[in-house]
Amino acid sequence: MKSALHLPLIAALLLPSAAAAATCSAKGDGFDGWLAGYKGDLTKAGVAQSVVDSALAGVSFDPAVIKKDRGQGVFSQTFAQFAGRMVNSNRLQVGAQKIAKNADLFARIEQQYGVPAPVIVAVWGLESDFGANTGTFPTLQSLATLAYDCRRPVMFQNELVDALQIVARGDLTPEQMKGAWAGELGQTQFLPSNYVKYAVDFDGDGRRDLIKSSADVLASTANYLHSLGWAAGQPWLVEVNIPGELPWDQADLEIKKPVSEWQNMGITGANGSIPAGDAALYLPMGRYGPAFLAYHNFDVYLGWNESLVYSTTAAYFATRLAGAPPVGKGNGVVEALGAPDIAFIQKALAGQGMDPGPIDGKLGLKTRLAVRAFQIKAGLPADGWPDSALLSALR
Ligand code: CA
Repeated sequence: MKSALHLPLIAALLLPSAAAAATCSAKGDGFDGWLAGYKGDLTKAGVAQSVVDSALAGVSFDPAVIKKDRGQGVFSQTFAQFAGRMVNSNRLQVGAQKIAKNADLFARIEQQYGVPAPVIVAVWGLESDFGANTGTFPTLQSLATLAYDCRRPVMFQNELVDALQIVARGDLTPEQMKGAWAGELGQTQFLPSNYVKYAVDFDGDGRRDLIKSSADVLASTANYLHSLGWAAGQPWLVEVNIPGELPWDQADLEIKKPVSEWQNMGITGANGSIPAGDAALYLPMGRYGPAFLAYHNFDVYLGWNESLVYSTTAAYFATRLAGAPPVGKGNGVVEALGAPDIAFIQKALAGQGMDPGPIDGKLGLKTRLAVRAFQIKAGLPADGWPDSALLSALR
């Protein structure tokens, strides 16, 4: 389908919507009036009337989307808990079958984008169980609801405009656009903005179809990871054994050293030799838990999803699909604090003038960096993992 529009410009023209800010309500009162005005704005800005009509006809405010938006649970699982649940024997088996069955396709994808099959398949498995669960929320309705809602209207008005672009260029019909509650689409759950930027037509039918076409899905995922900086032929995460004593403050994703320096400190490969390169010592659960060397490509995972636990799990899943054995338990007993304790720690660290990020009970990268800074100050082993010794020191 030929489109006369330049939708990215339209986003700039329409945003931020004063109308939405003035009228939005969590119950959706006023939604229909807002949508009518918004449709008018879209056509005035150059979106084809036919696209606006087909995409937004019959779209209503969806309270279920708002409920999901307000109800996002605290993600307080550790890497071991989350990976134990997500990287199960069924997913490993199906993932290996997918790789074997699509060997030619993956070879072509790796040649073009530099991303190997296990990395793509691990993401595919985590995001939608290899395409089995892509979501049932009507995307345009979800996005319109969130574009109207007061919490993040600008972001979702942009996503809605990008979703219209997907319709306008004929990749998906409005009816085909079903996905996650927040508008993520397809077998690896692309937000419409990423769909517009990174989706590719790899099966050659002229459409970028991330819902039904596995070839399009897998190549687009590789294209996105490539654009985030994936380095071809390089490792991402390699499990290591660590000695009982180390300068723990050096275990930081932002401190990369040549592998030989880590080896000089007594670090050895858990499964044979360690690939050369620069890597960070990464202790996802502190000094008593599993240990990895994280290479540049691990940073690419954090570009895909900023959650450390998700990224570590996706990267670990990929190592398993690439042949690594199950991760070891580490050198001792890991203490895992619950969300209320994490929130207390965040508050206390913020009170000390540090920046642990939002006080939300989630153990993200910022909180871990602030924990480590406090551990250094307090003379505690500075592995960035909050434990009862840290709690006592902060109390
Ligand atoms: Ca296609």
